Amino acid sequence: MDIKLHNIKVKDIFDGFEDDGEDGVFAYGGKLTIRPPYQREFVYDLKQQEAVIHTILKGFPLNTMYWVKTGEDKYEILDGQQRTLSAMSFLSHKLQISLNGKSYYNDSLPDDLYDRLMNYEFMVYICSGTESEKLEWFEVVNVAGEELTPQELRNSVYTGAWLSDAKRHFSKRTCAAKGLSDRYINGDPNRQELLEKALQGICEHQGYNSITDYMAAHKSDADADELWQYFQDVIHWVEKIFPKYYSDMKGLDWCHLYNKYHDKSYNSTQMDAEVKRLHEDEEVQKNKGIYEYLLSRDEDPFAAKLLSLRSFTERDKQAAYSKQGGTCALCKRVFAYAEMAGDHIKPWSKGGQTVLENCQMLCKDCNSKKSDMY
Ligand SMILES: [Zn+2]
Repeated sequence: MDIKLHNIKVKDIFDGFEDDGEDGVFAYGGKLTIRPPYQREFVYDLKQQEAVIHTILKGFPLNTMYWVKTGEDKYEILDGQQRTLSAMSFLSHKLQISLNGKSYYNDSLPDDLYDRLMNYEFMVYICSGTESEKLEWFEVVNVAGEELTPQELRNSVYTGAWLSDAKRHFSKRTCAAKGLSDRYINGDPNRQELLEKALQGICEHQGYNSITDYMAAHKSDADADELWQYFQDVIHWVEKIFPKYYSDMKGLDWCHLYNKYHDKSYNSTQMDAEVKRLHEDEEVQKNKGIYEYLLSRDEDPFAAKLLSLRSFTERDKQAAYSKQGGTCALCKRVFAYAEMAGDHIKPWSKGGQTVLENCQMLCKDCNSKKSDMY
């Protein structure tokens, strides 16, 4: 691992500056990637950009920036993207600043100030090393700087054909993955959140310990087709099992549910009817739990917990307690109120409701033994 401090003039960075929008922003004679393709948009507002130019014109120091060496004489900004972009915007006539009550574009700036700007030196740490060294270092640097998301950090280490293809599918604003999954999965493609979700899913599916491990294993692949196919399988599976869409489907961990249940068979007509029935069931307090409940209930006797079924009110429990004279309805021993729990005489799964007539008090022991509570 090698980290060296360099002083690099603004005019050298501005040399060959090119803003290709979503396809990336480049400078320093084409050697520096200021913003990689399909990364988040410029986030400094006008005031912040102006503050950067003021700092430079006054000759005050800006905080140290960090570049990472990605190849022979190739660099990517890890920290300092927004400050660098502010200077570049001003120099390419995209930003107007006010100074001593007057407004200036780059070309109306007095010569001495213009020269001061062009000859100002950024203090840049350039780092090179192995991927794991870089990633470890980036995570520390990131704490203090313009914050990158964890997946943006990983992307700055595992560059190559695989990543370019993955970003084409998952990171463009109008990417295919967003179009396909928007109704089901949350995540901003520009912040690499959708890519991260897909990677989390495929890692669990294939038994990788971490996203980093998966990216390290695949970074030299010619494309990211495996990941893209996996992601499409997930969404198509959801659409097959639950053919009717409900808005509470959005934001569930569908990759995880796919990994866990896609080998089982379900009848979509029955699932559809069940979803509808559970949406109408007033005992169900958490509609988002309906889908996992339906996928898992044949295996898990406690699956109904996912639905947060209504529980008895204190008032109903107190009434049942007095009616029973403080005895447990099953073992018939006497307990204090606080040592007991309200139980459905007829369980929810058999149509029992959460009303006083269906409430009995059980001691904690008996209650935990009664496994058909749902
Ligand atoms: Zn008991």
